[in-house]
Formats: sequence, structure tokens, C-alpha cells
Amino acid sequence: MTEKATLATAQLSSCVGCHVSLLDLHEKLVDLLEEAIDIEYCYVLLDAKEIPEHVDVAYIEGSIRNEEDEEVAKELREAADVVIAVGTCACFGGVHGLANLYPRDELLEYVYKEAPTNDDESDIPSEHVPELFPYVRPLPDVIEVDYMIPGCPPKSEVIAEVIAAILEDREPELPTTNLCEECPREKEDKPIEEIKFRTGQGKPDPEKCLLEQGYPCLGPATSSGCGAACPSRGLPCRGCNGPTRNALDQGAEYLDALASLSYEADVDLDELLSGIPDLVGKIYMFTLASSLLKGHRRAIKGD
Ligand code: SF4
Ligand code: SF4
Ligand code: SF4
Repeated sequence: MTEKATLATAQLSSCVGCHVSLLDLHEKLVDLLEEAIDIEYCYVLLDAKEIPEHVDVAYIEGSIRNEEDEEVAKELREAADVVIAVGTCACFGGVHGLANLYPRDELLEYVYKEAPTNDDESDIPSEHVPELFPYVRPLPDVIEVDYMIPGCPPKSEVIAEVIAAILEDREPELPTTNLCEECPREKEDKPIEEIKFRTGQGKPDPEKCLLEQGYPCLGPATSSGCGAACPSRGLPCRGCNGPTRNALDQGAEYLDALASLSYEADVDLDELLSGIPDLVGKIYMFTLASSLLKGHRRAIKGD
């Protein structure tokens, strides 16, 4: 692109953290604005009310939870030459995709009536609110997406690389390996014999692989790109970058890794998994809405 490219951003159902990641580009964002892009629609930076008829690039954060999300996503797809799904909510449904475990009416009833912060006057809003869909869906389930930048939130450097690649008309360099490949912890191919948690079960060895010590780290089933931020600080990865490229399902990929490690130790996999409370929440914390299970509650909960 020789002229300045035009950019529109939008927040669907999400927390705005992926817009904060854009702002976290700091001086680089100022350089981009001076030299390469005009932002035409972005509610955190501009007071523009209408989505433009045409932009070069749409930067979309959030998942599809209600009819307004779907309308905005489709309008931006019409308007933009290139659509980027930014953040794990947009790419895979995000943490609130776990709402797919519950019927919509049950959720509304709890949030607006039964939760302790409500009182007798509280009621489910029915006017001037977009209709809530039965399930959370990731953006690629509703519109065609050209690039995905996962992460909760994504690293600003990765956002900068994708924007630069689009402006330079080249393919962005995105991570292709799993998190273990960039994790500094020492791996010994040691089988797992039990599941441990940091609370009340001592401290993990600071140098060695957390999973091999029994702490359920999702590294083997998670895309790299964050510099293994959590294991580097002593915490197991929770999987916020989503599955590795070409993997169909992060939870299944993780169970596969655990099965191999427990087989080596001659430990029963069911017994090992029984040590993980809220197994579905653990292995699909960010990706249930895009998993093979998607919104099929019966398959997950049996109701
Ligand atoms: Fe917020 Fe994470 Fe979703 Fe981005 S991916 S909108 S940071 S919850
Ligand atoms: Fe690092 Fe976790 Fe992979 Fe072990 S399982 S190498 S701690 S990312
Ligand atoms: Fe997300 Fe895992 Fe990276 Fe932590 S280590 S930021 S949970 S992908």
C-alpha cells in the first residue's frame, strides 16, 4: 500500500483488553498514525458513530454473543478489504465461551435475579438490549477472517507485526510451534504420576518443566508467541494463546499429551484426570466455543 491505509476497530462481546494492547504500541502507534494509517472508526480513540462504507483493515475484538455483535461483524466484513480477529475471544470464543456450558435462560436468571448482588426488584432486561444468542461463537464462525492474532490479550509486538505485514503486502510471521518450544524450563521427558497444585502442595522446582512435576501446564497444547510468560514466572500456562496452528481442538490436544505422559508412567489416565477439578474449565478455559464440543452441552454435561 502506498497511500495511508484506513483502519476501523470494533469491540464485540469482550473486555476491551485487546484495544488496550493496540494502545500499548505507544510511540509505535504514533509513528503508524503519522506515516501509514488513518484510524477512521475506533471507539476508544475517536468519536465516530458510524462504521465507514469502506476501510482497508478491520481490527475486531470479541466474540459473537448477541445480535448486535453479529450485525457489527457483518457490516465490517462488508466494509473492509482485510479483517483481523484480535484476541482469543475473537479467534476462539475466549473465556466467556465457557458460558456455553449453561442454557441461556439459566444464565440470565442467575445473573439478573439470583446472584447475591441483586434484590427483589431486579429483573432480566428486555427493552433496548440486543437479543442474546443461545451460544457464544468465535468470529470465524460468522464471517470470513483473514488473520488471527490470539492471546488474552495478544502481545502488542504481534499486533504490530501483522499490521506491518498487511501494509507491506507480505505474510506476517506468526508462531507455528507450541509453547514448550519457547519455554526456558528444563524438559527431561519425565512421565507424570500425579496432578499437583501450587496451593498446599509445596513449590515447584524453578528450573524444571512444570508439567513433568505434575502441575497441569497447558504448554504442549498451546501456541507459542508470548515468550512462555507464565511458566517463566512459575505459573502453569492456562492456554490463552489457543491451540497450536492446524490443531483442531486445544482440549483434545492436551488430553493427548497427558495420555502419552501417563502411559509412560503406567498411571491410569482417568485417575490422573480425576485430580483436575473442573476439567472442562481447565482444558477449554479459552477455547470451548471453538472446540469440537462447541455448544453441545449434552456432550459435556449430560443434561
Ligand atoms: Fe479481553 Fe482477553 Fe477477550 Fe482480549 S481476548 S477482549 S483481553 S478477554
Ligand atoms: Fe514449559 Fe509448561 Fe511446556 Fe513444561 S509443559 S516445557 S513448563 S510450557
Ligand atoms: Fe497465555 Fe499460556 Fe502465554 Fe500465559 S503462558 S500468557 S496463559 S499462552
